[in-house]
Amino acid sequence: MDTETEPDVNRAEDPARKQPRFVVIGAGMSGILSAIELQKAGFDDFVVYEKADTLGGTWRENTYPGIACDVPSHFYSYSFELNPDWSHRFAPGAEIQAYFEGVAHRYGVVERIRFGTEVARCAFEEGRWRIETAAGESDAADFVIAATGVLHHPAIPQIEGLDVFEGAVFHSARWDHEVPLEGRRVGVVGTGSSAIQIVSALVDRVARLTLFQRTAQWITPMDNPAYTEQEKAEFREHPEAMETLRADTARAFTEGFANVLVDAESPVLDGIHATCVANLESSVKDPELREKLRPDYRATCKRLILSEDFYDAIQRPNARLVNEGIERVEAKGVRTRDGELHELDVLVLATGFRVDRFVRPMEVIGRDGAALDAIWQDGPFAYLATSVPDLPNFFMLQGPNGPVGNFSLIDVAELQLTYILQLVERVRSGGCREISASWPAMERFEAERREAAKKTVWASGCRSWYIGADGLPTAWPWTYDRFREEMQRPRLEDFETR
Ligand code: NAP
Repeated sequence: MDTETEPDVNRAEDPARKQPRFVVIGAGMSGILSAIELQKAGFDDFVVYEKADTLGGTWRENTYPGIACDVPSHFYSYSFELNPDWSHRFAPGAEIQAYFEGVAHRYGVVERIRFGTEVARCAFEEGRWRIETAAGESDAADFVIAATGVLHHPAIPQIEGLDVFEGAVFHSARWDHEVPLEGRRVGVVGTGSSAIQIVSALVDRVARLTLFQRTAQWITPMDNPAYTEQEKAEFREHPEAMETLRADTARAFTEGFANVLVDAESPVLDGIHATCVANLESSVKDPELREKLRPDYRATCKRLILSEDFYDAIQRPNARLVNEGIERVEAKGVRTRDGELHELDVLVLATGFRVDRFVRPMEVIGRDGAALDAIWQDGPFAYLATSVPDLPNFFMLQGPNGPVGNFSLIDVAELQLTYILQLVERVRSGGCREISASWPAMERFEAERREAAKKTVWASGCRSWYIGADGLPTAWPWTYDRFREEMQRPRLEDFETR
């Protein structure tokens, strides 16, 4: 039933509509932002459920040596909380975690978080969401904002023998800081953004570092200068200088990167490829190692890696690149397919994340018993990355098919909240009680998205976490300008309202 008619006066007077209750799930970057934006919009009845004991999401979980954000920090900041004190152009992870903690305290978000409370189930019953926690508590809400993250569930590789290894083994996002590294023989599996940072940070601390590479990576050089005390003082005195820097960085990333990735024919991509080739040629002396490190696909097909020190690190006398392929793990180390046993004390699995999970394992049951698991049986999707048909008043931040990779996800989340709050306003003002993407709009969006995905550089012939079960890239396949434009104002005709 579509009620795209005049607002119902009685409904507008309904106090539950005027002051609806929100449940935000997750207290990472997007969840903290949701709480702040809800408060700014005048909504005071909300709670943030967080399964862990502290906030910060990905920055709480990833504490591996060398962690930093490869989006410049003045861009990877909330637009309303610029930070004059960033130590470097690309700040380290602990500093970013401290930034989120500081913002959450300043905006009174911390008091609104129920820590140690995992939401296990959300079911839409009689016009409201019934929330059940893993501990058996329940809550009810008019709106759910799922801020559960993308790179959250570690992917543990199916390598035989992981359980018989006598040394320490852990995933990059579950770093065991109790395990000593100094003077030890450390193996790293994987060559993604995490592994590259880990290798660079560890090589001078350990006795021997072995990098198990399945696929070589293109690496673009980056310069990471520290901000001087004078520069920080300037930022403090003239905040508009930070705003200009943020805007300039956003423009450079949008025009020079995000917008061109979606057009595999773009000559800008050839320039990025040439930079990566020159970086490899000029940085790696030994021709044999250089060829091992040379990928056989186009730069930016996988998420581009920025590093100022990886090539130096892998050429250290105590480092070794192994690309023979892992046969199995044994008690003493990793056996490769050529029969060699690489003896190790510590094995780090920098093997990425299960990126098709999104809000799951939480069970989400929408209107008339529609289960999200069933809706997503062939892979996750969401209209404009925020709404799924049959899940009224349930919105996702960083949901499926949004812009990801080499871009500020803070900017993405801010735009998404602008959009979501307009849908909420439609309900609050009495225009309807329930709002979610309609199936026809969802299907049209999916068809257009899949067509566009084929033209992106991510589809140019490589394996990556951007590729979905159907073999097509899952990320937003249009320009970032288009995303920004879409987020300005919802097209209400694409929504089913009741
Ligand atoms: P990732 O990019 O998915 O890389 C996983 C690595 O593990 C790949 O090299 C993969 O090889 C390898 N691998 C997986 N299973 C394997 C197996 N069974 N045997 C051998 N190798 C295996 O994961 P990530 O490095 O954690 O990065 C994920 C994303 O997190 C990044 O793309 C980025 O968006 C974000 N991130 C950002 C930063 C930053 O800002 N600097 C840092 C870390 C992470 P194949 O390539 O052959 O599949």
